[in-house]
Amino acid sequence: MLQPPHSSLQVAAVPAQRVPVRDRDQDAPWHTEAVCRRDEAGLFFAPSKEPTAARLSREQAAKRVCSGCPVMVECREHALLQPEPYGVWGGLTAAERRVVLARRRRRDLELKKAARSAERIAAAG
Ligand code: SF4
Repeated sequence: MLQPPHSSLQVAAVPAQRVPVRDRDQDAPWHTEAVCRRDEAGLFFAPSKEPTAARLSREQAAKRVCSGCPVMVECREHALLQPEPYGVWGGLTAAERRVVLARRRRRDLELKKAARSAERIAAAG
């Protein structure tokens, strides 16, 4: 598993400017531009036995950091593709990523069904 950019990183005091994807060096690893390169505030991963209210507050703070991050899309896709089971990645909590993944699985199933139907119709036609 790739080390999350925010595993030993700190939230930057000043959010990074959004940099259009086309203007970035496409060969550079996305996490080099992570706003959360040092998460000394511990926003992105839950400490053990974190109360629910504290978790929700921490996650909202992490999401605010993500919203100003120039690599949010790359980070989110990474976390979905791995998949990363813990923490806030790309502005999504682990529970939110599970929902996105479930939707993608349903969509893929529907697309496969539609493709099979189209093949049957073409074969019969
Ligand atoms: S989107 Fe959020 S978690 Fe991902 S690199 Fe940026 S600040 Fe870190």
